[in-house]
Formats: sequence, structure tokens, C-alpha cells
Amino acid sequence: MLGKFDDLVEKASGLGLKAYLVDSEDIPVENRIALKCAYGCRGYGKRLSCPPNVISVEEFRKIIGEYNSALLLIDERDTSQVSDILEAWGEIRKDSFHKMLELEHEAFREGFTFAHLLRPGSCNECDICNLKECIKPELRRFAPEAVGINLQKAMEKAGLVLEFCKPEKTICVGVLLLE
Ligand code: SF4
Repeated sequence: MLGKFDDLVEKASGLGLKAYLVDSEDIPVENRIALKCAYGCRGYGKRLSCPPNVISVEEFRKIIGEYNSALLLIDERDTSQVSDILEAWGEIRKDSFHKMLELEHEAFREGFTFAHLLRPGSCNECDICNLKECIKPELRRFAPEAVGINLQKAMEKAGLVLEFCKPEKTICVGVLLLE
């Protein structure tokens, strides 16, 4: 059933990622997700990959409507031996992002011209984001939540469970839009 997506799923596996093919219409985009960013997140406004420095939920809703398919990308880590998960999260998500970005590049090479990755977590390619002009624009991607994607529901629709508050198991989730 995967057809033309087979190669990408296999490539993802080679990178240590699990990839689940979904219809893009099964990825819910909700206005209320913006509350989680704007009120309560310490990272709000501190990166050019995060609100309010990214396209709006409304703009993204129109954009995702132009895609048919996506891969949900899951990078699961055993963090049971990590003493400070918040401290470790920076390196974990950076490593995960680079694997997922490699997959985006592969998708482009395979003919998915509009392949675009929504990365796990906020961009941390620089220690401090200058908040004016991205100095590594080729690496700038935003997280699914930053544009209103309800990842929990998206994963449920794919038969997956996104668990919270489990420091012994850290899951990086990305979305690779494909067309
Ligand atoms: S690459 Fe650097 S400047 Fe660009 S969004 Fe990421 S942290 Fe900010």
C-alpha cells in the first residue's frame, strides 16, 4: 500500500526512525494549540522557529490543505539512565532533527518536490537565536505544534499513542509533508 513511499520508510528505518504514512487530512490543525505556546511555554518568542515568529495557524491550515500525504516520524529514546531530561533534551532533539532533515532531503531527491519537515521541538542550531534574521536558513524548520498541529490526535489516527510525563522514554515526533 505504501507504493512510492516505500523507499522513504525504508530510509527512515535506516536512520533509526519509525515512519507512518498518513493522509494529510488526518493531521488536525487547531487554533487552541496556540494557547500552549503563547501562555506557559518558556521558549515562546525565543526562536525564529517558534510563534510568533512563524506562519500563523490559519496560514498553515491552508498550506497543509495543498498536501495529500505525510509521514509521521518517531524517534524513540530510552532515557531511563538520564538524570536531567530537560538538560538532555537539547541534544536529543538536535540529533533527531538532523536525521529527519536527511529524510526530507532524500524525499526531495526522490521527486517529492514540496517535501517539508516539521521538526521535533524548537530550533536549537544556534546557542542563541538572533530573532532578526536566521543565519542558517537552510536548517530553519518549525515544530508541528508551532503551527497548530495536534500531534496527539494525529498519532491516534495512525494507531499510535503519544504519552506525556514519561522521562524514562523520550519520543521525538516530526512530520514530513509530502507531495
Ligand atoms: S538556525 Fe539559528 S538563527 Fe536560525 S532559527 Fe535556528 S537558532 Fe535561530
